[in-house]
Amino acid sequence: AIVVDEYMQTSKKDVFAAGDSCAIYYNPIKKHAYIPLATNAVRMGTLVAQNLVKPTIKYMGTQGTSGLHIYDYNVASTGITETAASLFDMNVKSITISENNRPEFMPTYENITLKVVYEEETRRIVGAQVISKIDATQAINTLSVCVQQEMTIDELGFMDFFFQPHFNKPWHFLNQAGLQALQA
Ligand SMILES: Cc1cc2nc3c(=O)[nH]c(=O)nc-3n(C[C@H](O)[C@H](O)[C@H](O)COP(=O)(O)OP(=O)(O)OC[C@H]3O[C@@H](n4cnc5c(N)ncnc54)[C@H](O)[C@@H]3O)c2cc1C
Repeated sequence: AIVVDEYMQTSKKDVFAAGDSCAIYYNPIKKHAYIPLATNAVRMGTLVAQNLVKPTIKYMGTQGTSGLHIYDYNVASTGITETAASLFDMNVKSITISENNRPEFMPTYENITLKVVYEEETRRIVGAQVISKIDATQAINTLSVCVQQEMTIDELGFMDFFFQPHFNKPWHFLNQAGLQALQA
């Protein structure tokens, strides 16, 4: 893959590159990696246009966030998995929670399984995966921001999320992951 700097410039002056041809800065590991996704391609392409005349906007890096609908399940992932962490020589811990999406006094509710991976020493969140029959995938976009902003699993426990019984519980399942990690 072509290595570009944060302005999408190659090592050759005035030559820019973007998309699947490039390696990309991967925030969870703080190094370049090959993560061919349309999300990365459109951002890199736009940055090439922004930076052609003079370096203006830096690329923020990626978490490789992605989603999938398969049979009855909605699945999404951001950053690294626990298995991938060992490939990158990262020392991680993880917390897996199984929660109903809303209070059990509601007529219906559905199970959500969420796994959050964090660095053992710094407790920085480096990845997460979710699976449910309801669409809980937007929570992975929230966790993508957490990875990008280098937030810790402990901060996740007390982050402010709204509550209304139609949608969720007073402790959002993202909070629950942070809270349960405090005891892990
Ligand atoms: C089945 C599938 C599903 C995917 N689903 C998702 C998804 O849900 N979400 C997501 O984020 N990403 C997804 N991706 C990845 C995404 O499609 C790619 O990351 C994205 O298209 C890369 O864009 P690009 O412009 O860099 O490359 P491309 O889209 O591959 O475009 C390169 C273009 O260059 C042309 N080309 C090649 N050689 C030459 C040449 N010598 N001269 C002229 N033209 C040439 C090709 O014909 C092509 O049109 C999926 C990929 C596949 C294969």
